[in-house]
Amino acid sequence: MRDEHSVPGDSAAASDSAPGKLSIMNTPTWQQRAAELKPDGRAFIAGQRVASLSAATFAKHSPIDGRLLAHVADGQSPDIDMAVADARAAFTSGVWSARAPAARKRALQRFAELIRSHKEELALLETLDMGKPIGDSLKVDVPSTARSIEWYAEAIDKVYGEVAPTASSVLATITREPLGVVGAIVPWNFPLIMTAWKIGPILAAGNSLVLKPSEKSPLSALRLAEIAIEAGIPPGVFNVVPGYGHTAGKALALHMDVDAIGFTGSTATGKLVMQYAGQSNLKRVGLECGGKSANIVMADCPDLEAAATAAAFAIFFNQGEMCSAGSRLLVQRPIREAMLDRISAIAKRMMPGDPLDPSTRLGALVDETQMQRVLSYIDSGREQGARLHCGGDRVRQDSGGYYVEPTVFDDVSPQMKIAREEIFGPVLSTIPFDTIDEAIAIANSTEYGLAAAIWSRDINVAHKAARALRSGMVYVNCYDADDITVPFGGYKQSGIGRDKSLHAFEKYTELKTTWIEFG
Ligand code: NAD
Repeated sequence: MRDEHSVPGDSAAASDSAPGKLSIMNTPTWQQRAAELKPDGRAFIAGQRVASLSAATFAKHSPIDGRLLAHVADGQSPDIDMAVADARAAFTSGVWSARAPAARKRALQRFAELIRSHKEELALLETLDMGKPIGDSLKVDVPSTARSIEWYAEAIDKVYGEVAPTASSVLATITREPLGVVGAIVPWNFPLIMTAWKIGPILAAGNSLVLKPSEKSPLSALRLAEIAIEAGIPPGVFNVVPGYGHTAGKALALHMDVDAIGFTGSTATGKLVMQYAGQSNLKRVGLECGGKSANIVMADCPDLEAAATAAAFAIFFNQGEMCSAGSRLLVQRPIREAMLDRISAIAKRMMPGDPLDPSTRLGALVDETQMQRVLSYIDSGREQGARLHCGGDRVRQDSGGYYVEPTVFDDVSPQMKIAREEIFGPVLSTIPFDTIDEAIAIANSTEYGLAAAIWSRDINVAHKAARALRSGMVYVNCYDADDITVPFGGYKQSGIGRDKSLHAFEKYTELKTTWIEFG
């Protein structure tokens, strides 16, 4: 999830651009900026901000301290109908879909530049909306969003079709064409980045888009759509309808005039989206779902300190609200105590703080429901006999927000709930093992298959594990290394298809064969 060029949690660089550190020059602090920000919660359809047709809204509060951020348009089926109709009209008109690739490329490049020039505003929206530290929003989320869009812009005029090896009296070409209207449904944990992973390839391929952001974090995506217009992406091509999953999301996934859904979210919702496709027009479905990833550390790991630091960031970065989080730490017995001591020391240095303070490394969980869910998993770990090594409690209650300590369990058995279910919070389950075969068997004993890691100095062990682990991404002597150039997605119930890289075009394009016979 992290960009290879970023260093999450490195607050020093974030502080360089942080107004809080420059107060002697009267630059406002992030808290002051937050107090002045008035986010617009209206939908964005056909190039304009609009209220929902029913005029209904829902109140969006910040998980940082419970403050009201905006009244957000509560999109329903008629709003989705309107957005899809506008997206279809834009697609059919050819204003974007038939535009020369080089012209689409220029508009998307401008879009990426504008995202960079709105970095501070977008970062602040992201932090207020879902609670992540402002330093991470500035250093990771906004730059990674711009880079994703720029990368797909640059790819537009470098992807060629094929000519089949037929008889010389025939010409058979195989070309990729846009699908038409694509619906994207995204979660709240990386609102900007998840949106960028969809809109990059969807728009680069020439489709029109209706995006349904999470009801828990709709604000940055709405702002992105406005910026897209400024960049020259025509009205109707990129629409955003906020709303709840069971209303707006369901209406989009059931829509008869939507050609595909690019979904990121939980496995349970992914299964519903597939059903909606079957109940409606058999639209194409791409799913990026949950995970319970295993991080295997052998006793001969090349650098215990590096392995412990990576293991800590693999579960505490973004408050553990990461699909690819290394939530199961499998440690070979001889190094178990040494690993746990190092991880707990890092955990203690990462206590939650005010997300608007640039030195904060762990922020708020997205809402009270998510916090209660995380706390109930901690209770279940205790009840089922796991040993609490550190953390385990709610903190900063006086703030009015939702904060949980970085938590490490030891002596977890593979059957326990905290070893099997996705917690989506800063809770690490440590499972000791003796042999690599045992570790691989435990790692694969899950319904998920998103990511996995193996730490070993022995190339034979590392290679054997990398081959045997049933996951879309396997890291060797690292965790969560990432870049837009490589595919992201999972085996088993972690999803279908891949985001990122050129492979993402497969989700959002049709393959056409044109067979020409010569006289
Ligand atoms: P979620 O499934 O609750 O919601 C995801 C999106 O689906 C939201 O926009 C929501 O409104 C919408 N939705 C909910 N019910 C719907 C319905 N019936 N029909 C249509 N849409 C509906 O997930 P979440 O809590 O927002 O996000 C956390 C989950 O996302 C975790 O499981 C995490 O692992 C997963 N995730 C996966 C990836 C990946 O790339 N594999 C990335 C980020 C998050």
